[in-house]
This record gives sequence, structure tokens and C-alpha cells, in this order.
Amino acid sequence: MAGCFLPRVLDAARVLVLDGIRVENPPFYPMLAGMGFSNLPDFSQMAAITFCDVVVSHVPFTDGLLFHELVHVEQYHQLGIPRFSELYVRGFLSGGGYDGIPLEVDAYALGRQFEGNPRQRFSVAEEVARWVREDRF
Ligand SMILES: [Zn+2]
Repeated sequence: MAGCFLPRVLDAARVLVLDGIRVENPPFYPMLAGMGFSNLPDFSQMAAITFCDVVVSHVPFTDGLLFHELVHVEQYHQLGIPRFSELYVRGFLSGGGYDGIPLEVDAYALGRQFEGNPRQRFSVAEEVARWVREDRF
């Protein structure tokens, strides 16, 4: 990971692999379902979830999964929690679901780049900064 992430991300990130329990959906999900949202991402079915610099996983980490979640740590760092959250929800609504969230699109694209050649070095911080600058989130 050191070839792609700054030490501040690698030093700040904390990882937790749950065993026998799963992250529950937020308490406001039933209200959203009542408003007609039927495609809300199910937290308990996600491989992992990143909360700022804490990555909680339901499965053992692979390099690809860890990379993806560390991209989110970088995004949180550059955007801050309120802006990240706002953009995540806005992306969900305008993108038509989880797959259309630009913060996810970015993380998956960078993850593909990493997994295509794990020894290639590139700056996730610069890529995320470019997306912020270009207002792509
Ligand atoms: Zn993600």
C-alpha cells in the first residue's frame, strides 16, 4: 500500500475484522424505506465499511479490499466527514444507487488500477485531489 498511499493515511487507518457479528443498517433506514427507497445498500451484506479512518470488515482483508477502503480513508481526509457524507448520499440519489456513487466509482477505478499491477506506484491522494478539483464527486 505504501506505493500508493501517504504515510498519514497508512498511519491513521485502523482496521477491524468482525467475527460472528455484522454491522447493522442505520436506524433511519426504515424511514427511508417508508419514503419509497428500495435499493438502499445493505450494510450487513457489504464486505467492508469505512467510517472516516476506521475500516470495519465482515471478511478477511485481501489487498484489493484494503486498497478500496483506504481510498475512502483518503477521500474522507480530503473532504471531511460532513462533505464526504453529503456527496455519498447525493451520489446515491443522482447516480441511481450504490454503483453510481462517484466516491465508489473513483475507489473501484483506482482499485482496478492497483489490482492490474500491484507493483505500480501512483498517488491516490493526487487522484482524489484531482476528482475534488474537477468537482467529480
Ligand atoms: Zn467503497
